[in-house]
Amino acid sequence: MNEVQIDDSTIKIGGDDPIKHLRPKVAEESITWRELRRDAFWQNIPGWKEVDYETFISSKWQERNAITNPKKLIKAVQDIASPEFIEDVKAGFAAAPMAVRISPYALALIDWEDPYNDPIRRQFLPVGSQLEPDHPMLTLDSLHEQEDSPTKGLTHRYPDKALFLTLDTCPVYCRFCTRSYAVGLDTETVEKVQLKANEERWALAFKYMRERKELEDVVISGGDMYRLKPDQIREIGHALLDIPHIRRFRFATKGLAIQPMKILTDTDWVDAVTEVTDRGRKMHKEVVIHTHFNTANEVTGISQDAMNLLFERGITVRNQSVFQRGVNDDPDQMTELVRRLGYINVHPYYVYVHDLVQGTEDLRTMVATAIRVEKRVRGATAGFNTPLFVVDAPGGGGKRDAHSYEHYDRETGISVYTAPAVKKGEFFTYFDPLRSLNPDIQEAWHNPVKREEMLNDVVQTAKARYI
Ligand SMILES: *Cc1c(COP(=O)(O)O)cnc(C)c1O
Ligand code: SF4
Repeated sequence: MNEVQIDDSTIKIGGDDPIKHLRPKVAEESITWRELRRDAFWQNIPGWKEVDYETFISSKWQERNAITNPKKLIKAVQDIASPEFIEDVKAGFAAAPMAVRISPYALALIDWEDPYNDPIRRQFLPVGSQLEPDHPMLTLDSLHEQEDSPTKGLTHRYPDKALFLTLDTCPVYCRFCTRSYAVGLDTETVEKVQLKANEERWALAFKYMRERKELEDVVISGGDMYRLKPDQIREIGHALLDIPHIRRFRFATKGLAIQPMKILTDTDWVDAVTEVTDRGRKMHKEVVIHTHFNTANEVTGISQDAMNLLFERGITVRNQSVFQRGVNDDPDQMTELVRRLGYINVHPYYVYVHDLVQGTEDLRTMVATAIRVEKRVRGATAGFNTPLFVVDAPGGGGKRDAHSYEHYDRETGISVYTAPAVKKGEFFTYFDPLRSLNPDIQEAWHNPVKREEMLNDVVQTAKARYI
């Protein structure tokens, strides 16, 4: 028997080694999620070879050097990408309903040795050869946000919360954006709904929120709060804090994921956010940031420095990812993302099964894939750092746990959800990508009569099973 001194108590344990490693030790080199890039990765882009760290982390420099059209992109990468790839991107942009904008940070994180398979490239730069014809059920506003809007840019769908679209611009434009009906400039294929940062429109939204006493929770989105000026953040933040029944709100931004240096160098902006969160805390109201990392590759030493600053200021940051093919639809990729976010103090909150957005069929996955990946992720880390995998029910049912379908017909790829707290008695359908279905069924989807039949059959089965 050994006697082991632990703190002040003496305990007896059998054998020579007082510690028993019942779980095999993990090789240190497999703890990859803690290895955050701190190299000068941007210097791989030929035009930025001479750019030093101080310049690169300046938010002004990031804005000035944003890639805002295909020409600028080609100029930046023509010496490191193949001519075939460049032609492919041109074809992709010509067909895409989304405007182009990518931050230098995100552009430089792309692996230009293999851009076709790079998960960041896939999110922002469409290539013609990878595009797939749309599933016939894809639309521009699949969540019917405009239908559930009492005033322009405000969606009131859930009993106690509202979504407030303050403006329609973002620091980047994502191919997969749910709000491609409004966000970004008009493109060759889409004329957008305008949601400018506009005091009168905001005043109407505040009036509605004041009148609706049941509201406790507001999502401030867009567009993106990175595009709000410090004074606008103060104006919106204080106006919401002044509404007595509003207990909590979140500012939504993709910014932390694709331009984390703004937190380190745009002092006025960060101070405005801090002012609102501090005042909220004193009023016992919760003000947080929701961000949008999709892959572990987006999390670098700069992200960690930015998060350290926000953490020291007591600002909670949660993450919402979009589940995308070739980006994060592999269990190891998703686990790495979740662990890396936890490591820098970002709470993974949701993973959205891709919305039914036009022009993004190549990025969509099956509900079955989301469910499979969720099983592998749950248990890998703390439960509060484990995201919920949700389907945002097309047609305005709201977010539903991907597992909670009433019926899932794998042959037609139709899953059926209900949302009793949001729209009682209604049935909502989601559609797996065409490529996952057999050729006969794919053809049936293109036939309006057969399409109706398939939909009716599956919904009838769901209704029969629903109690
Ligand atoms: C996502 C969303 C919210 C917020 O929902 P949570 O589940 O609380 O994150 C509110 N309104 C709309 C319209 C939404 O899409
Ligand atoms: S940052 Fe958000 S709102 Fe803007 S384009 Fe991307 S997904 Fe859409």
